Amino acid sequence: MEFNLSLDQLQLKEAVIEFARRELVDDLSGREKRREFFWEGWKKCAEFGLPGMPVPEQYGGLGLDPLSCVVALEALGYGCPDHGLIFALNSHLWTCIKPLLTFGTDEQKEKYLPALVRGDKIGGHAMTEADAGSDAFSMRCRARKVGDRYLLNGAKIFITNAPIADLLLVFAVTDPEKGFGGVSAFIVEKGFPGFSIGQSIELMGLRTCPIGEVVLEDCEVPVSHRLGSEGAGAAIFHAEMEWERGCLFAAHLGAMQRTLETTVAHARERKQFGQAIGKNQAVSHKIADMAMRVELGRLILYKVAWMKGCGKRAPLESAFSKLFISESYLQNSLDALQIHGGYGYSVDYGLERHVRDSLGGRIYSGTSEIQRNIIASFLDL
Ligand SMILES: Cc1cc2nc3c(=O)[nH]c(=O)nc-3n(C[C@H](O)[C@H](O)[C@H](O)COP(=O)(O)OP(=O)(O)OC[C@H]3O[C@@H](n4cnc5c(N)ncnc54)[C@H](O)[C@@H]3O)c2cc1C
Repeated sequence: MEFNLSLDQLQLKEAVIEFARRELVDDLSGREKRREFFWEGWKKCAEFGLPGMPVPEQYGGLGLDPLSCVVALEALGYGCPDHGLIFALNSHLWTCIKPLLTFGTDEQKEKYLPALVRGDKIGGHAMTEADAGSDAFSMRCRARKVGDRYLLNGAKIFITNAPIADLLLVFAVTDPEKGFGGVSAFIVEKGFPGFSIGQSIELMGLRTCPIGEVVLEDCEVPVSHRLGSEGAGAAIFHAEMEWERGCLFAAHLGAMQRTLETTVAHARERKQFGQAIGKNQAVSHKIADMAMRVELGRLILYKVAWMKGCGKRAPLESAFSKLFISESYLQNSLDALQIHGGYGYSVDYGLERHVRDSLGGRIYSGTSEIQRNIIASFLDL
């Protein structure tokens, strides 16, 4: 078993950290207050090649293996405090680019991938509905085939990137009799007749990431825009979730590493009762647990990336990884805040942002409870 990163991966990590620190740290508090997407940062990420990491060079991408992608995203999470920007990028990558790459026809890939890789077009996916969240396949959104097109009707909610997206992968029922096998996926462009963006949703955290509703009223989608065969929606969604649960949380791990380092430094420097607060076991044990969570999170994350790189399925491992890292990120953020005392609670230190942003990770990509259900199902429970 090889635990070392290659020289290329180490250099990529350093390069992403340096890039993020140089280009992605401007005026975050202001953008958060204005709930504004970091367009300049998005363009710079695209110029650096981040949206094209897993995409073959043929479509303008970098053609990186999954472990290298994960290492780069971890570095991005470490260097860039704008978690909303990173979240938007991850959604674009794992719920739009990757499924297009895996399930798209040559024509679909040629049409969309180069612009998505360049960051000229922004993507996402629309599954969740007001009454269909964890139970996503109870969706009401319907797609009816009429001649050479489908007519989509329904509404989607909590859709990352919706207010800024050029195209979304929309899931809709094509055959209500077939349950999971009756859902199909469609590449829907924002200009299609009958497609509109509903309200933006103000979230507690990830304030720089635009999230909103999508409304489909007899939305006309050409048959050539169906992704995969009719009824392949569940397979596409599950494949997508494996990638997202495996890779998106790499950025959380990077953020955890940054918080750990900040907290260690604070525990060494801050003196109370004549000694560094880190000399108190109540403080140092908390930090030891934080470090352990970072280390264990990295091991499971890299294992998922390695499995995906070998072409293996990893539904159980990606559930372990998503659950462990998202819960650990919240716990580490709370511990870091506590160890910083009143300074931690002040917005100036940026630690309360980690608490706000990390809470979302227990909900999106399937809640913590749903991840435990998946794990339990592998134990035949
Ligand atoms: C920041 C953010 C971004 C998102 N982005 C997208 C996106 O881009 N596209 C998209 O389609 N969706 C997106 N979502 C939606 C997300 O996938 C759903 O919020 C999530 O799946 C949970 O659904 P729900 O909110 O309806 O909660 P519910 O399903 O109503 O769940 C409520 C509570 O009940 C629990 N629960 C429900 N069923 C069970 C069960 N069987 N066993 C145990 N507990 C259960 C849940 O764990 C949860 O604690 C996003 C959500 C957030 C917060």
